[in-house]
Amino acid sequence: VRARVMEVIEAPSVDYQDIGGLEKEIQEVVETVELPLTQPELFASVGIEPPRGVLLYGPPGTGKTLLAKAVAHQANATFIRMSGSELVHKFIGEGAQLVRDLFQMARDKAPSIIFIDELDAVGSRRTHDGTTGSAEVNRTMMQLLSELDGFSERGNVRIMAATNRIDMLDPAILRPGRFDRIIEVPLPDEKGREQIFKIHTRKMTTEEDVDVQKIIEEMEGASGADVKAIVTEAGMFAIRRRSKAVNMEDFEKAIDKVLHKETPVEVPTS
Ligand code: ATP
Repeated sequence: VRARVMEVIEAPSVDYQDIGGLEKEIQEVVETVELPLTQPELFASVGIEPPRGVLLYGPPGTGKTLLAKAVAHQANATFIRMSGSELVHKFIGEGAQLVRDLFQMARDKAPSIIFIDELDAVGSRRTHDGTTGSAEVNRTMMQLLSELDGFSERGNVRIMAATNRIDMLDPAILRPGRFDRIIEVPLPDEKGREQIFKIHTRKMTTEEDVDVQKIIEEMEGASGADVKAIVTEAGMFAIRRRSKAVNMEDFEKAIDKVLHKETPVEVPTS
């Protein structure tokens, strides 16, 4: 049961080149997570401690998980992902133990990167409403804080977390020595959307009528995950026509389907 809640990838295949936009954010992650793993002596000789925990925050589907996987790839580290919401909603009563297991596994498989998705599910401001649910969440969070505190800054285990709701986080979790490096991962701008579009259409056959600039403009407000979904949908429309190449109309229909559909685009992360 416990193994199922963790996703473990020995060395993820995601590369920094698979990430569109986010140059500044990649740079920050390189300095705060990758370098402490690959060149710890840099920190030792300058005499500073790298941050223990790095928190990525921003809207859903902007590439936070991608970024964490790419660092693990670059540092040749094991990537261990655990979802905060699964931790507290699916494995009720086991949260604290799972956190312990998570850190133990990370030490066993070091060098490694722990990635905790949906950190807000574990680390929200405590409600003190006395329900068993929140007592359980509190226990899980106390365990997480204690693992973070007992964690060697110079070790070869690094920890990253992500949230869409930084405003909800308990200040205790953001205290110095914990998740004290905060990196915003925003929605892509036009340039970013173009790069993400190029990444996801790398292997796609397109007709000459495809106007990339227009597509990029029409995708205003789209996340990286939306851009990817649009490319996939456009491909599906082409397949439906039994065509080998995707045309402009396929893209128009895909944009409409992904961005303008009535029901919210959000998919529950089981
Ligand atoms: P969530 O907060 O919902 O967990 P996230 O920020 O972790 O989202 P990812 O899981 O990294 O988002 O993104 C989902 C998918 O969308 C990725 O696997 C990738 O295919 C695509 N994607 C998102 N952002 C980017 C990006 N910046 N460049 C390229 N692809 C992206």
